Amino acid sequence: MPITRSDCETRDQQDALAPLRDQFFLPDGVIYLDGNSLGAQPRAALARAQQVITQEWGVGLIRSWNTAGWFELPQRLGDQLAPLVGAQAGELVVTDTTSINLFKVLAAALRQQQATAPAKRVIVSERRTFPTDLYIAQGLIDQLQAHGAPAYELRLIDAPDELSAALGDDVAVLMLTHVNYQTGYMFDMAAVTARAHQTGALTVWDLAHSAGAVPVALNASQADYAVGCTYKYLNGGPGSPAFLWVHAKHQNAFWQPLSGWWGHARPFAMEPGYRPRQGISRYLCGTQPITSLALVACGLDIFAQTSMAALRDKSVALTTLFIQLVQQACNDHPLTLITPTDPARRGSQVSYQHPQGFAVVQALIARGVIPDYREPRIMRFGFTPLYTRFVDVWDAVAVLQEILTSRSWDQSDFHQRAAVT
Ligand SMILES: *Cc1c(COP(=O)(O)O)cnc(C)c1O
Repeated sequence: MPITRSDCETRDQQDALAPLRDQFFLPDGVIYLDGNSLGAQPRAALARAQQVITQEWGVGLIRSWNTAGWFELPQRLGDQLAPLVGAQAGELVVTDTTSINLFKVLAAALRQQQATAPAKRVIVSERRTFPTDLYIAQGLIDQLQAHGAPAYELRLIDAPDELSAALGDDVAVLMLTHVNYQTGYMFDMAAVTARAHQTGALTVWDLAHSAGAVPVALNASQADYAVGCTYKYLNGGPGSPAFLWVHAKHQNAFWQPLSGWWGHARPFAMEPGYRPRQGISRYLCGTQPITSLALVACGLDIFAQTSMAALRDKSVALTTLFIQLVQQACNDHPLTLITPTDPARRGSQVSYQHPQGFAVVQALIARGVIPDYREPRIMRFGFTPLYTRFVDVWDAVAVLQEILTSRSWDQSDFHQRAAVT
C-alpha cells in the first residue's frame, strides 16, 4: 500500500510534539528543511531581543553586566544546554564560534598529551568532515611547528570503517564530527571513544549536527572534549555563539591558548599576569556578544518542554518517512541515497546525490521547499522534529517529484551560484 498524504495527516494528529511548532515563526508557503544549517526563529526571540536592547542595554547600560546577569551568561546557558548533550551543570560554556572553540580544545588536548605521552604526534579525523575542523587542526599544527615543536601529522580516514586501523599508538587526538554534515552518518560515540582510549588517544567531538538533533551522552561515553553550534538544531539565531564542553577530570589540567581576561581567575583585579579561573570558565576568552548570546536561551527554553528521547523518536520517523516517500515517488530518477538506511547510524538529515543537485535544490527553493546543497552534488534535507510535520515531508517529496519529472530545474537561473549555497 503506498503511503498517502492522509496517512501523514493522521500521524500529525497523533504527534504529541506537534504543538511545539507554534512556538516558532515560520513563513507562509515555506517548507523548511534546512534547520541543520540555520534553525528557525523561536517566536520568543523577538520579545527577548527587544528586552535586551531597550531595557538591559538602553536603560540598564553598564549596570546590566551585574543586574541582568550578562557576565555569567555563557555559564548559565551552558548549564541549560548541558542535559541535551549528556553533561552536568558547570561543564559547558556557550561562547565564541565552533571553529574558535575547536582551536581551544584541540590545543588543550595536544598539550595534555605532550605532558604525558610526547611520542604521540598524530591527529586522526575524517577527510569529509566539515572543512573548518581540518583547517583549524592544520592551522594549529603549523603554529606549533613554527614555534619549534616536533611535527604533528593529520591522518585522515575516508570511511568510518577505516577508523580502527588509523588508531595506532602514535595517535594523540581523535577529532570527529559525531554526525557527518554531508552524509548524516552518526558514529557510536561510546564505542569509538572506548576504542580511542585503548591506545591512549583523547577524543574531541564536534556536535554541530548532533546537539538538539540526536541524544548525546558525553559523560556516559567518557568523551574528553566537545564543541558544537547553537544556530543549527538549537535555533539560537544566525551566528549565535557556539558551545564548548570539557570532561570535569580534564578541566583544570591546562589552560587553553586564547588566555584572555574572561578566563582569568579575577578579571577585574586587572592583574598584569594571567591566572586561569578554575573550571570550565577558563575556556572563555573575551567580552561576549550579549545580544546574540541572550537569544540562545529562547531556543533552549523550547527543548526544556520535551525530551531528546521524544525528539529522537520523531526525528527517526520523519527521516524514515522521507526515504520511503522518495523511493515511492522518485525511484526512476538518478538519486543516490548517501545517508545510512539504519536509523541508529544516522542523524536528523537525509542526503541524496543527483547529477544536477545544485539546480534541483534551486528549483525546490523557488517552489518554497528549502533544503540545501553541498559539494559534491549533495542535496541535504534536514528534519527538525520541533517544527517539521509529517505532511511537510509528504508535500516536499511531491514537489521534488514534480521538479524531477518535468525537469523544471533545467533553467539558466537555477545554475547560478550565490556566495552561500
Ligand atoms: C556548521 C559546522 C561548523 C561551523 O563552525 P563555525 O565556526 O560556526 O562557522 C563547524 N564544524 C562542523 C562539523 C559544522 O557542521
